[in-house]
Amino acid sequence: MVHLPKTQPGPPCLEVEKAKANGTYHCEGVLPLIQKDFKNKCYLCEDKAPLSINIEHFKPHRGDKELKFDWNNLYYACSHCNNTKSDKYEYLLDCTREADGVDRRIKYKINPFPKEKAVITALEDSQAVNDTVALLRAIYNGTTELKLIESANLRSKLLKEIRRFQDLLFDYYDNEFDDEEKQIIKDKIVRELRSASCFTAFKRWIIRERADFFADFNQLLG
Ligand SMILES: [Zn+2]
Repeated sequence: MVHLPKTQPGPPCLEVEKAKANGTYHCEGVLPLIQKDFKNKCYLCEDKAPLSINIEHFKPHRGDKELKFDWNNLYYACSHCNNTKSDKYEYLLDCTREADGVDRRIKYKINPFPKEKAVITALEDSQAVNDTVALLRAIYNGTTELKLIESANLRSKLLKEIRRFQDLLFDYYDNEFDDEEKQIIKDKIVRELRSASCFTAFKRWIIRERADFFADFNQLLG
């Protein structure tokens, strides 16, 4: 997870729909704006352009109209994450709030080998951090028999991205490239560290964990 601010205010149709007996939060303008704000990626697993998209309620609405139609409670998630989260988590770190530090208070790591599990670590002891870590571990490493397959598929995409990112870093620090070529590689690394990239939190932690990477790229960590 990384910080992804939401456009304010949200689409006006939500207030209109809330007043109806059978209104819908899938009203005009909601999906395009939510897709844009969340950079077309699932806010939880950070899979970019997921094949299956849900508008997810950050706080479970359980029929509460205020929560159901509140623009600030509507998030962009893939089906795997939406199903894993279900209505079981209420006090999570919020990626739309910069102060919540979703990629600073939690460490994200995966070793670039087949069948590796994601290592999600809480860097402070609070309910929001601990609950978010529990959810992210379930998302990346699986729960039920079906979810174990989905999470293995997710990790295989994640590992491919991490290996690609490591190749860029390897090239950047390889002396065989001249300054102009290095600048091209650096621009690619910069793009990978932006919030619109996929699996950005894992990439940012690769930078944070090494002093030389950190010295060269820390200003890009969002
Ligand atoms: Zn997801």
